[in-house]
Amino acid sequence: MATRPGPSPRVRRNRLIAGLVVAMLVVVASAWVIAALAPSAGSASPSPSPSATPTATPRPAPTATATPTPVDTFDKAAHSIDDPDSIWVVVDKLRPLNPADYEPSDLVVVPVAHTWEPLMRAEAADAIVRMFQAAADEAGLSLASNSAYRSYGSQERIYDGDDTLTARPGFSEHQTGLTMDIGAESGYCSSTCASPTPQRGSGCATTPTGSGSCCGTRRIRST
Ligand SMILES: [Zn+2]
Repeated sequence: MATRPGPSPRVRRNRLIAGLVVAMLVVVASAWVIAALAPSAGSASPSPSPSATPTATPRPAPTATATPTPVDTFDKAAHSIDDPDSIWVVVDKLRPLNPADYEPSDLVVVPVAHTWEPLMRAEAADAIVRMFQAAADEAGLSLASNSAYRSYGSQERIYDGDDTLTARPGFSEHQTGLTMDIGAESGYCSSTCASPTPQRGSGCATTPTGSGSCCGTRRIRST
């Protein structure tokens, strides 16, 4: 059997070249297909939706604050400070009553706890009653009158010649009928306070049980 001769070297070389060309074309075509199918870089990532642009909250324009016009509602001339019958009369050791033996015409008994029965002018008495009630209701304090109206004659008996402790007759606020010395209802006094108590202050104090109460020197002053 005769052996069929193989292709010549030139033919084999041409076939090899043709094979390489085909392989290159396949590679190029594949690369083109892949590139065509792949999403473009620009559209790969979704672009964020635009966020709303923050808008500044409108603020009211500042307006100039009108300067309040002071209104003088207190009428300094409403009452006299010299007339002994005036509710505003001012009496002290340099401002005597005129006349010196002045006596109010509208004195009433003040219905409050007391050491001596208190008399005051009617308007002052009403105010004192309200104040004592408020002290009891709002602070639980039991107040009492130690001295209220004192006549010229009473002040003559009280005045001991020491102007730092007592007022001369005609120079005492008590003679106006508008003044009251107030202390604790317990009435117990000493010159020093032994301990803090609910009713300490304004001269007098007392413990809730009524023992150990005290008052300062103001309580026993009779000006
Ligand atoms: Zn007094």
